[in-house]
Amino acid sequence: MLLFVVALTVHGEKQRRSKAKGEDTHYSFAKYLGKDEKLVALTFDDGPHQQLTPRLLDVLKAKNAKATFYVMGVKAGLHPDILARAVSEGHDVANHVWDHPVLTKISREEVHEQIDSTSKAIAKATHITPVSMRPPYGNTNARLNDFISSTENMAVVMWSLDTLDWKHPSPQELISKAMKRVKAGDVLLCHDIHAGTIEAIPGLIDQLQAAGYTLVPVSLLLNKAAAFLDAAAAASTTTTTTNGAASATTTTKRQLRGVDS
Ligand SMILES: [Zn+2]
Repeated sequence: MLLFVVALTVHGEKQRRSKAKGEDTHYSFAKYLGKDEKLVALTFDDGPHQQLTPRLLDVLKAKNAKATFYVMGVKAGLHPDILARAVSEGHDVANHVWDHPVLTKISREEVHEQIDSTSKAIAKATHITPVSMRPPYGNTNARLNDFISSTENMAVVMWSLDTLDWKHPSPQELISKAMKRVKAGDVLLCHDIHAGTIEAIPGLIDQLQAAGYTLVPVSLLLNKAAAFLDAAAAASTTTTTTNGAASATTTTKRQLRGVDS
């Protein structure tokens, strides 16, 4: 139920902000967080995997950590039970398109079909419509992001910290490299289709939590972003009576755009 509220809020924000280029494309969420909010998002692409994703869900449950799964539609249809479990345990299930094409090399109609069919498969399994998507290989551009956020009504969520788990590092190596770089607001990219990733995650969560981080789903960070942008918009509408205030508003908007693009 809560997730439905989240979805409506995010969609509402997006419709109002659709002309502000770049604000629906996210890497780090650092600028939307309070000074002491040490939130990070673990994200897992390319699943669900029949054996590994349930193992990962066991780990997340034991450690009280929430994550986001950017699932492929073609696999979502094969394992709806895994996705239903993920949602019931407080995780986000989000859209990583149907079968992983390079979106910049296919038509807009095909992009729509890739996203829409995946959202339908997710909704069928979980009764939740995803609010964010991630382009395969992170391959996108500003015009495609605009198309996705306005036409498909979804936030495009990239990442700010790549664990490079697809290169099969040892768990120790994955953890130490991630811990050296991690900052509040980071979105960590992992894949729940590699056994080595699943081995590394318990230690990574332990170290993140020991360092004071809370692991949250991406939808929570999107809500933080929407609240921040709402507050900025409210501030700008109440202070447009003098030239000085108007120019401050312009600066704020430019900053929001610049960091996000
Ligand atoms: Zn992928």
